Amino acid sequence: MSEIISNDESAERGLNFVEQLVYNDLREGKNGGRLNTRFPPEPNGYLHIGHAKAICMDFGVAEKFGGTCNLRFDDTNPVKEDTEYVDAIRDDIHWLGFDWGDREYYASDYFPQLFDLAVRMIKEGKAYVDDQTSEQIAAQKGTPTQPGQNSPYRDRTPEENLDLFMRMNAGEFPDGARVLRAKIDMASDNMHFRDPIMYRIITKYPHHRTGTTWKVYPMYDFAHGQSDFFEGVTHSICTLEFVPHRPLYDYFAQELAKGGDYCPRQIEFNRLNLTYTVMSKRKLLQLVQEGLVSGWDDPRMPTISGMRRRGYTPESIRRFIDTIGYTKYEALNSVSLLEHAVRNDLNARATRAMAVLNPLKITIVNYPEGQVEEVEMENNPENPAEGTHKMPFSREIFIERDDFMENPPKKFFRLAPGGEVRLKGAYIIKCEEVIKDAEGNIVELRCSYDPDTRSGLPGSMRKVKGTLHWVSAAHAVDAEVRLYDRLFAVENPAAETEKDFRELLNPDSLKVLTGVKVEPFIAENAKQGAKFQFQRIGYFTPDLDSTPDHLIFNRTIGLKDSWEKEQKK
Ligand code: ATP
Ligand code: MG
Repeated sequence: MSEIISNDESAERGLNFVEQLVYNDLREGKNGGRLNTRFPPEPNGYLHIGHAKAICMDFGVAEKFGGTCNLRFDDTNPVKEDTEYVDAIRDDIHWLGFDWGDREYYASDYFPQLFDLAVRMIKEGKAYVDDQTSEQIAAQKGTPTQPGQNSPYRDRTPEENLDLFMRMNAGEFPDGARVLRAKIDMASDNMHFRDPIMYRIITKYPHHRTGTTWKVYPMYDFAHGQSDFFEGVTHSICTLEFVPHRPLYDYFAQELAKGGDYCPRQIEFNRLNLTYTVMSKRKLLQLVQEGLVSGWDDPRMPTISGMRRRGYTPESIRRFIDTIGYTKYEALNSVSLLEHAVRNDLNARATRAMAVLNPLKITIVNYPEGQVEEVEMENNPENPAEGTHKMPFSREIFIERDDFMENPPKKFFRLAPGGEVRLKGAYIIKCEEVIKDAEGNIVELRCSYDPDTRSGLPGSMRKVKGTLHWVSAAHAVDAEVRLYDRLFAVENPAAETEKDFRELLNPDSLKVLTGVKVEPFIAENAKQGAKFQFQRIGYFTPDLDSTPDHLIFNRTIGLKDSWEKEQKK
């Protein structure tokens, strides 16, 4: 009886195509009505935003239908794997808001069972040891339109194969000398069926968990489906590049399932690609190793740890992934969409405060020397419940250098000689005099203030066009600010064929400003993870390296999308 749900019904339930397949399997009572997914990172690098898409899918679908999701480290290649990565991966998944409970597994846990399966297949004549080099094997592979050639070692007896395989694992042969291959079909239409490699020799690198116990290690295709089977995974969700691997996944899984009631199923969705970003772990590792970024958590990296350090919230990342959705077609998503999600989220949660990035001093000549007033600032107009904080106002203040022009164009509504502006939350001031040094640089403005214009008080109704942010000079605290821009200067670095990806880096992706002046409230609240909106500038968060004696803020994102404007030009 068909219980396949209609498109209308799945739309009504807000299901994506993967959830729809899972839902149907559950309704049909497959696998005894169980749902178990897994997220299978290889601990050979830090997680990036692409992995976040997979995590949201794997954990999300389990959550939605009351199933479970395993965390399985796919640690079958000791050459590149490390426990540093294992720890980072755990932290990042938790930070994104997902939890695997006690279901933390390792593909290396299954090495004994995988080895047993290989031995069984050898005995059944389904696998053989090949003495050829990887180049020779590749040369015999054929093409999608031409069949491959059989290896001269293909017809070894099971006894000889077993003897050789045991000796491979005893460390008798050097790395690369021999491999174990499945004996399937060198003429198959599916290239992955042309006697795929099951095991290779690795003796030079100890494994981060099993040490030097094993000298042979299973290939991805011989480990993944079986690991799913051993764990009882019902839905093995991965990205589209694994579509051609699926028949092989099923082939090996069936060696274990043997037509029984339970067999894991692979489902593929489109991977996340972002503009101005590379997502290959190999390339990201290169950036780290060559010092082109400060580390895996450099705030310009597309890694989860980089985004966290930069001030992105898990909610904004999850929101972005929700927005782009899951399909069966490869796409390149605009990084502006991610930035938009971050901006929206921070708009709702960031505390408003004042900081002056490039200070210009103002003396308010008619304001009494030594007098300090406290003005009231709203913490977040999006959420009045967050209340207000007090900010000192005094005779000497700083404004942004850009907010003054000696010879302003027509629609410049900021400060100019003889002109008036409001200092946000305080008074209207008028520029009376411009002070310059010997070289003609502006070093100070002398202004007057109108005492009847204090914000929020009766009589402050007089209006001027411009409102500026400011800080009180005597009370402001010095800080360093790191302004980030896109790491790559071209839209699709992965598609660039002429140049090495490192030549495509944006030379202006990091600008460091020192001598930034922040209001005391910011310094007092600059705890790790704090989110500020520096008024009129953007969203900022204290960097990991920030200390009370040396405040450092990362610009998470500007208030507006400056790139979109630039592209329209
Ligand atoms: P590698 O090239 O090292 O295999 P990988 O990015 O595939 O890199 P894995 O650790 O194997 O890294 O990935 C774990 C899971 O994350 C896999 O299921 C993979 O399909 C998924 N994944 C990786 N990159 C993306 C991406 N850009 N978008 C969506 N899912 C991804
Ligand atoms: Mg992979």
